Amino acid sequence: MTDEMLNKFAETVLRVGVNLQENQGLEIICPVEKSQVAAALTKAAYEMKAKIVRVRWECEAVDRLNYLNASAETLSEIPKWLVDSKNYLVEKGFCYVAIAAENPSAFIDVPPEKIAATAKARGKALKKFYESVMSNGIRWCVVSVPTKEWAKKVFPDSSDPEKELGEAIVKTMRLNSAEPIKEWEKHIQTLDAHAAFLNSHDFAALHFTSDNGTDFTVGLCDRHKWLSAQEKAKDGLPFVANMPTEEVFTAPHKLKADGVVKSAMPLCYEGQIIDGFTLKFKKGRVVDFSAEKGYDVLKQLIETDKGTKRLGEVALIGKNSPIAKSKILFYNTLFDENASCHIALGKGYPTTVNGGETLSKAERAKLGLNDSIEHVDFMIGTADMNIDGIMKDGKTVPIFRNGDWII
Ligand code: ZN
Ligand code: ZN
Repeated sequence: MTDEMLNKFAETVLRVGVNLQENQGLEIICPVEKSQVAAALTKAAYEMKAKIVRVRWECEAVDRLNYLNASAETLSEIPKWLVDSKNYLVEKGFCYVAIAAENPSAFIDVPPEKIAATAKARGKALKKFYESVMSNGIRWCVVSVPTKEWAKKVFPDSSDPEKELGEAIVKTMRLNSAEPIKEWEKHIQTLDAHAAFLNSHDFAALHFTSDNGTDFTVGLCDRHKWLSAQEKAKDGLPFVANMPTEEVFTAPHKLKADGVVKSAMPLCYEGQIIDGFTLKFKKGRVVDFSAEKGYDVLKQLIETDKGTKRLGEVALIGKNSPIAKSKILFYNTLFDENASCHIALGKGYPTTVNGGETLSKAERAKLGLNDSIEHVDFMIGTADMNIDGIMKDGKTVPIFRNGDWII
């Protein structure tokens, strides 16, 4: 990215993404190789009169060596300071920007059980923090910038993969327009209209079919609501949690999913790739699964806890979204999940049921909202996908034909 584009990126992320306020703290989670991005965000944040900016650096090369050399027991000891530092963000009213730019094959030679053990321990230790994040107790935004290894994976034949990936990201984030912030306002309105249509029907269930073999019905939570790009945080201020984003999403009922879903794109999970996979559901639970690639990783994921066998999100995205139209396989969920309808194994967002943020665990469960220490999206939308909404009286309403909205 050029300096000019980087400044545009920083301003859009801070204004539209986390909606940084005067005198508010900001945390940035950033790959070490992208320190110039953290610096640009920091500069923009102080121009907006931020209180303080703190950066947490990430390095996959170090993480990989830790995975390979430290024992699973040691890796599973999550230091108290880390937990405290996360809870601190919520207590002190920080917002945070996370830069997701993983090399999809970073941990290809690490035993999946070590990754699973670490992810499980981290999920448990940070449960309170994740609960705040998923209940919008904090304003947050996940974005991406090109990193060397990731770019090579996306554009293997390019002479300058980082440049190409950078250009693709700029387009999907609408930064190539003269006024990206205005573009985002328009985009948010379109997505809100889709969510309003779905909310007005208050569907009991959705039925997905595709030529690849997907034939799947998912019931929705009682009191579910469809959300889109812009949400309100607990403090009442709007924010956009993912940039780019093209989805409208809600909460499936944890006991109501039946049939077969086939993956439409590979899933990169913790530095490993799962591809060509099929999940069979009965009464909301995964009862059988297979994968052409990454079966063991998928197995570890599904067996993480009781909640990872059930669904926590269903999201609709038409095949004519800019990301889908780019036809680029990003190997990064932030982008790939916005190119295709997706569902998530694991925790449901309390915000996707009316009043969910203030309900107890038991009350949420009663409505059908799933709970887990994980939340992993995977893509199921194909170019020929049909989706019907099933009303409470059994009537059906077409929502998608041939992979796109027909409303
Ligand atoms: Zn989603
Ligand atoms: Zn999700």
